[in-house]
Order: sequence, then structure tokens, then C-alpha cells
Amino acid sequence: MHNDHALVTARLDRFVHDHLTPALYRDARPLAASAWQVPREPVPFAEAATQVFEPVSLGFKWGRAWSTVWFRVTGEVPQEWITAPPPNTRIEVLVDFGYNRSRSGFQAEGLAYRPDGTLIKSIAPLNSYLPWSSEDGPIDVLLEAAANPDVAGEYTFDPTPYGAWDSAPDEPLYSLKQLEVALLDTVVWELLQDVWTLRGLMIELPDGLSRKHEILRALEDMLDIIDPEDIPGSAEAGRAALTVVLSRPANASAHNIVATGHAHIDSAWLWPIRETVRKCARTFTNVMDLMDRYPDFVFSCSSAQQFAWMKEHHPQVFARIKEKVAAGQFVPVGGMWVESDSNMPGSEAMARQFIAGKQFFLDEFGIDCLEAWMPDSFGYSGALPQIVASAGSRWFLTQKISWNQVNRMPHHTFWWEGIDGSRVFTHFPPVDTYISEISGRELAHAEHNFSEKGRATMSLVPFGWGDGGGGPTREMIAAARRTHDLEGSPRVTMGSASSFFAAAEAEYPDAPVWSGEMYLELHRGVFTSQLRTKQGNRRNESLLRQAELWAATAALRTDYRYPQAELNRAWQSVLLLQFHDILPGSAIAWVHREAEERHAEVSETLEGIIADALEALAAPGVGRGHSNEGGSIELLVNAAPQQRGGVPALGAVVAASAPLAVTAQELDGSTVLDNGIIRAIVDASGQLTSLRAHADGREAIPAGTPANVLRMHRDLPNLWDAWDLDAHYRRTVTELHGLDERTVTGEVDGAAVVTTVRSVGSSRIEQRLILRPGSAALEIENRIDWREKEKILKLAMPLDVHADRIAAETQFGHLYRATHSNTSWDAARFEACQHRFVHLSEPGFGVAIANDSTYGYDVDRQTRAGGGTTTTVRFSLLRAPLFPDPDSDQGEHIMRFRIQPGATISDAVALGYDLATPLRTIRASAEIAPMVSSSNPDVVVETVKLAEDGSGDLVLRLYESRGAQAVTVLTLDGRAEAIVSTDLLERELTGEPRAVGSVIELPFRAFQLRTIRWRSVSAR
Ligand SMILES: [Zn+2]
Repeated sequence: MHNDHALVTARLDRFVHDHLTPALYRDARPLAASAWQVPREPVPFAEAATQVFEPVSLGFKWGRAWSTVWFRVTGEVPQEWITAPPPNTRIEVLVDFGYNRSRSGFQAEGLAYRPDGTLIKSIAPLNSYLPWSSEDGPIDVLLEAAANPDVAGEYTFDPTPYGAWDSAPDEPLYSLKQLEVALLDTVVWELLQDVWTLRGLMIELPDGLSRKHEILRALEDMLDIIDPEDIPGSAEAGRAALTVVLSRPANASAHNIVATGHAHIDSAWLWPIRETVRKCARTFTNVMDLMDRYPDFVFSCSSAQQFAWMKEHHPQVFARIKEKVAAGQFVPVGGMWVESDSNMPGSEAMARQFIAGKQFFLDEFGIDCLEAWMPDSFGYSGALPQIVASAGSRWFLTQKISWNQVNRMPHHTFWWEGIDGSRVFTHFPPVDTYISEISGRELAHAEHNFSEKGRATMSLVPFGWGDGGGGPTREMIAAARRTHDLEGSPRVTMGSASSFFAAAEAEYPDAPVWSGEMYLELHRGVFTSQLRTKQGNRRNESLLRQAELWAATAALRTDYRYPQAELNRAWQSVLLLQFHDILPGSAIAWVHREAEERHAEVSETLEGIIADALEALAAPGVGRGHSNEGGSIELLVNAAPQQRGGVPALGAVVAASAPLAVTAQELDGSTVLDNGIIRAIVDASGQLTSLRAHADGREAIPAGTPANVLRMHRDLPNLWDAWDLDAHYRRTVTELHGLDERTVTGEVDGAAVVTTVRSVGSSRIEQRLILRPGSAALEIENRIDWREKEKILKLAMPLDVHADRIAAETQFGHLYRATHSNTSWDAARFEACQHRFVHLSEPGFGVAIANDSTYGYDVDRQTRAGGGTTTTVRFSLLRAPLFPDPDSDQGEHIMRFRIQPGATISDAVALGYDLATPLRTIRASAEIAPMVSSSNPDVVVETVKLAEDGSGDLVLRLYESRGAQAVTVLTLDGRAEAIVSTDLLERELTGEPRAVGSVIELPFRAFQLRTIRWRSVSAR
């Protein structure tokens, strides 16, 4: 036979476009519309429904960016459609707001209500119909239309004015294009779905396979049979021509796919948080409309926050969600508050993402999510397996690592082992998308790409438009049903993520292991972009820790009321702002300005809680609300988990006598700072040429290579500006040696300070090198007025340390990364994430550097001319990408570092807490004994709080911080009935340590995290 494949396929495509698609609706009649422009921010239905609507017609220009217009759409269903409905038809209302219908979302969207306020369905570019029934009577629909601008456009990453209300142009963005009541031909619709699936499958099959040709010829027969002049009359016969090819069962060895409905709705990104609330309402309403029609359709929905928004703002949607959850169709997944970033959230915050999320799903639905669901976060911390397992979950899902620029993740189904050795069964869907439309191309890719073929047979496909596209569509469900058992295609079954994980784990219990973090070889700028958002996060993580500690201590010892509700709200705010486009700094200006404001509000609340709790503790006999300024003694309050300056961990005592004074002496143009513990030399240009601890005398700074060098680089990402730091940034650098000013001063607290001021471009950088009495570390405070664009500022710290790896803090421990680039994996990891410290060491000597608010760093090593190794760590201070926030990071910032020579890893841990948790001073009538103490300082008390269930039980979260086995004895200052080990959700664990009374001895494995609960606690 002559090869006419291309010709038949071209004929098919033209016929579908010119004849079948236009025949989808047999008839249509225009509807009338009127409109009311909301003055500014969205209003509820009840408020909108009572407004005066002005008549509008097609072509009506509407929608200034971010504004809302309510349309009232009215009209009659033609009488003949009601009295004698043509066979195989359905009535629908069709809406086109004037968006680009070649894209799924990111544009205008609408939510349709009946006049009584009940919800119908939503409208999005690829999901633009409302079901209507003749019983519904005349058409009367209220449509809340959101004029969301397409901020990203074609992803050219041009600076956009649309990132905030005030900077956006006033011109309307959309023009009303279609409002009709129409008659859908259900047979033509089914035929179109048959053709779409068969064509998609055919294209993917190899030429040599008979199956490919059989499908081609069946499609050709269908084209011959259908009469283009009478498609309604011939569609059924056309479908019959495809029956045989559609009924051939799947190959015995076909890959098995669990297709789960999904809508990846970013909690804020190229739109503000308030718009996400509406995006959720629209998408969930659509999804539940589909559930009513397709009982086999299952929707996986992550993020407790998004359910909580429905509960608060859309109770009608939430009530229906509850019904659908009970029916098993609407399935909460992930058990997190939001799909957060996983690199930067601190220890307790990362745990709280799971605690708050899982507890919400348990409270509202009685569902304990067993899978963690983070398809889109930018890399995965090595601490996650233990956190997931400690929350009582078993499985982990991601997809993002398929975005790696260099190295291919070798597995799709595997055990992921964390820094402590915990393992969780993990799946990385080989379809390489979390917004599948169940196309032939995607299904074939999932099978071809699946690394575990031969040992495992199944993968997961999340399908549905995200981010305002409306979620899954009826067309996707049609495709899933057609590929359920179809020769040449993977076998698709709609189901839940947990049904997939249970089966995948059962069939492949000895899956391969991936150990340590899953670093994303992309988006390396997110550790630095939008510093203020990151600083708010770091500050509030520490304030939350302090507030819970002092509130719990006060509540157990005094009549102070534990502010559970306020703490929950503060946590929920911080957890939301850790969303994977907020904390990373990749959202529009609106989102980041709001994040800064919300963080400031949370800080104020928490400072209030801390002040109240300490006041209650300072004067246990004095009624609350009375000022304690007359307390007879001044206390130093230490919320850190390590003893500091004579103050016990988690307690407060009278300040000890002042340590030795600090001297500052000039020597050959340099300043020698010395406090009797360490000695630092700062040269004429403000750089650090020497740093030694007196204890060992070992020099930390390589001769001739000063530390504390500021370096400015060009920063022009290839794509994804706020996200990406590309390797070529390293090729252009200016070291900032010049100075405007240099002064040496003494401070009231006895510190000696070398202050330098530099101008660079339009920016001003003031550095204060501070040596305090009694401190083992030199502090470097950077006050930067940042006026650069597309630059990155780094702070370089060359160290005379022979280290082939660097320890960087992550949640509940630290991980090691190479300081060299031997392998492609090492080379691709040229910018990485730290929490509060990094530590570089060779046997017997180490240097710790702590920071108060930055996350990004890079490290490398050089061999010196005379031999010896210089290991250089460079901290990323500021960037200034132009997209999506053209003004990102402009203005004044303060960042602090502390560098400690001769430091062990334990010192590094303590230095991190020290900088994050400054000692406070209060006046009191008596010292405050720690509520609880840990005998081994390497077993760190991360969290002290009261139990979430309101029982008044005391809960501690601790972890082993060195990466070695340890034992500690915990002693409660008070009485308790029992001490039990629990999971993160404070549920008692069997087979774990427990004790009667107030003391317990606990063994820890390396980096082990434990939650300990004292039942029925009373103060001594
Ligand atoms: Zn996302």
C-alpha cells in the first residue's frame, strides 16, 4: 500500500477543525447581559446581587487589571428545546469573557451563581460552559468575573506593571465576546473525544506496529462515513466506525496509570492571596459539578489552607466539599498547610506545615493523609523524610526534579532516605507534569520515561488545569475512560493518590534508595530574592519559638492563659507565607508587600505574647496587666536551647559580672580587636586579615587572602529572573575594596566596632565589624541601601581550612555538600541553601559562620601557591531581578553574620540559635528556672509548647544536632503523671520511651527528632 499516513492525518485534522468542532452545538441563541463594576476589591455575592446593573452588549470593554465586574445574564430557553428537545442534545450557557482560549488559565475567570446565591459552576478559557436544564426555567445567572491580567504573557520575563493594583494601567483588558444559550450535540461531543484519544495514541505508536495502521484506517473510514452536510445525522455512524479500534484491550504488559484529578493552585504567585481564595472557589465548584456527573472521578486536593479559605469565605463550597470528601471523591492529600518551600522553612515550621495540615484534615474530615504532596516546590530538603514519617505519613510525591538542568534523577519510584536515615516511599510521576490532560503524548511519555520498568508497573498522573484554569474537565475524564483498557496505551484508572501509593509500595517494596536532599538544578536564585519576605520568615520563626516557650512556662506556673488561638493564627500566617512562590521570592510585588505587612503584624502579636508571658513569670504574685517595672532585679532571659553567658537554656537569671573588656588597637593601618577569647585584625579597607581563638591560636584566615570581601556580580538569568541564578554570574565580578569612611568606636555594652562605608553604583554599604565582651565570634553587620538592578551581592569568606565538604544547617540537623565540583551533580550545585549556619572543618579545627536572615551561599576551594587549601564560602546577600517584581529588593536592609574560629559543629549549632535568639532583659522579682532541661546540650530543645488539644500537657520537640548517637536526660521543673513519646501530632507512639513522673532518659540516633509529652503537669 502507498504510504499516505501524513495525508490522512492532515485530512482528519482539517475535518475536525472545519466540520466536527463547529457541529458541537446544534443551535444557539443570544442572551442579554447587564453589568456592575465593583469599586475596588471583591465583594460577596449578597452585596453584589443588590446593586444596580447597567445593560451591556457583546464587545463591552471591561476589566481594568485586578478589578471585578458582576454580569447578570438573562434570557429564555427556546420553547421548542423544552417541549420537544432534539435527541442527543443538552442545554448549556456559553460564556467567553474575551480571554485567549488557547491557554488554560492566568486570565479572566468567572464564578456563576443562581439569583438565590447557590453556585452553578465556573468559567475559564478552556472550560467555558454552564450546564442548564429545562427545569431550571428562564436563564438568570450572576457571574462574578475577575479581570486577572496575564502577568507572565509568553514568559518573556519583561518587567511588568501588572504586579500591583496601583502600577497597573487603567485600560480594560477584556472585551465580552460570547453569551449564548446553546444546544450541545452529545454524540458529536463523544465522537470528538474518540478522535482525540485515538489520534493521540496513533501518533505515539511506532510505524512498524499494525495497531497504528488499524487506528489510522478506522479514522479514515469514519471520515468517509460522516456526511459533512449532516453531521448530527451521521455522527453515530461515524462513531460506529471507531468501535472496533476503541474496544481492543490493552496489552498484558501495558504500563498502569492511576489518573487522579488535580488542580495545582499556587497559593499566591502572579496574583495576590485574595485571588487564590477565589480561584479555589471556582475550581472546586467545577470539580464538584463533574463529580455529580462522573461518579468514578476522583480529585486530589492539597493544602489545608485552601480548604480553610472555603470554610471561612465560601461556606457553601465547603459544605459540598464535606459531602464529596465523605463520598470518597474529593480527597485531601499531602497533609500540609500549604505546598511550602522545603529548603528554607526552619525546623519547627517545616514540622508545623504537616501538623497544621494533617490536624485540619483530621478535625474537619476525619482523614489522616498518608502522602506528602509537593509536586512543585523548588528542591527537597534532606530533613523531609524524617519529618514526613514523624507526622505519621508514609509516602512522598514530587515532580519538580524533572526540571533539573543537568542531571537526570535516576528513579521514579524509590525509597527516599533523609539525613537521619528515615525512609519514605517516594514517587516522582514519570509523566513529568502535574497538569496533565491525559493526552496520548503524555501517557506514552509516562510509560517510556518510567525508570523502574521491569520491576514496577505503575505510575501516577495528576490531571487538570491549575492556577485558575478550572481543574479537570469533562474532556479529560472522557480521555481517562477511553484509555482504561485500550491496546497500545497505558492502562488508565481514575483513583486517589493513596490508592496508587498503596499498590505501588506493595508491588515494589525493595525499590532503590535515594539518600539525602533532592537538590533542584534550577531556580538557585530563590534562596536570595525578596530578602524582606525571608527576613520576616526567619524573625517570626524565632519569635514563635520564644512565644510558645514563655507562654507555656507562664501558663504552667501562673494564672497566665495560654494564647492558643493567637498562636494558631500566627503560625497559619507564617506557614502560608512559606508557600513555594512566596518565601522563595518569585511572586509579584503585591504578594511581597503583603507578605512584609503580614510578617510585621505577626511579629507585633508575638512580641506582645512574649512580653505578657514574661511579665507573668517575672512577678508570679502580681495580677496580670500590672506593670512590673518596679521589679527589684534585672534578669537576662535566654530562650536559646544552650546555656549562654551564665544564663541557663530556657531560663532567666541575674546578669553575671561583666566579662573582660574589648580592646581595639591600631597596628600598621589595621585595627586589632581582642576580647581575651578571640582576636581579629581588620585592615585599612575594612577586610578581615586575621581571626584566631586564643584557646588554640590557630589562624582561620589564609595569609594574603582577606575575608569579609564584598563582591558584586552581573546577574542576568537566561530565564525565570527571580528564580534563577545562572552559573555565568561568576564570570563577571567586582570586588569592593574602596572605602568612603572607616571609623573605630567603643560601644556602651563594651563592644569595639570598626565601621566602614562604601558607595557602589547608586548603593551604599555600611559594615560594622563588632567584637563584644565575652563573645567567641566576630559579628559583621551589613546595612545596605540597595539601588541596583540585575546584580547579585556576595560576601566572601576565604578560610584556611582543608575541607572537602561543608556542613549547612537544614531542619533538625545539617547536611554535607562537596566544596569541589568533581561530578556533574557537584558542579550543578553551585548555589545552595543554609539555615542559620555553615561549618567548615578539618580534623581538630573548624570555623562556624552564622547568619540572621540569608539562605543562599556557594563554596569552593583553591590550592595556594605554597600549598595548603583555601576554602571559600560566599554568602548571597541581595539580588535585584526585574521579573515578576521590577522593584524587588530595593531599599534598606540589615543582615548580620557571626564568624567563630575554632568552632565545633556543636558551637555552630549554638551560634545559630544565639544570633536568632538575642538575650532579652526584664525586671523581675525572682529568677525564672527553666521549665525543662536537657542534660546533653547536643540534644537540642527546639520547641516547648502546650499540647494542641488544650489539655494543658507540656510538649517538647528535640533533636540530636551533631549527627551522632546521644543520650540525654530531660528533667521537668514540676510534677507530671507520665511522660510519653509521640509523633508530630502529639499522638502517643508505642514501642518508644515513656516514663512515670517528671524525668526521662532518652537515647537518640544521629539527627533523630523526638516529640515528648508530659501528661497532667503542675508546677512545683
Ligand atoms: Zn506551584
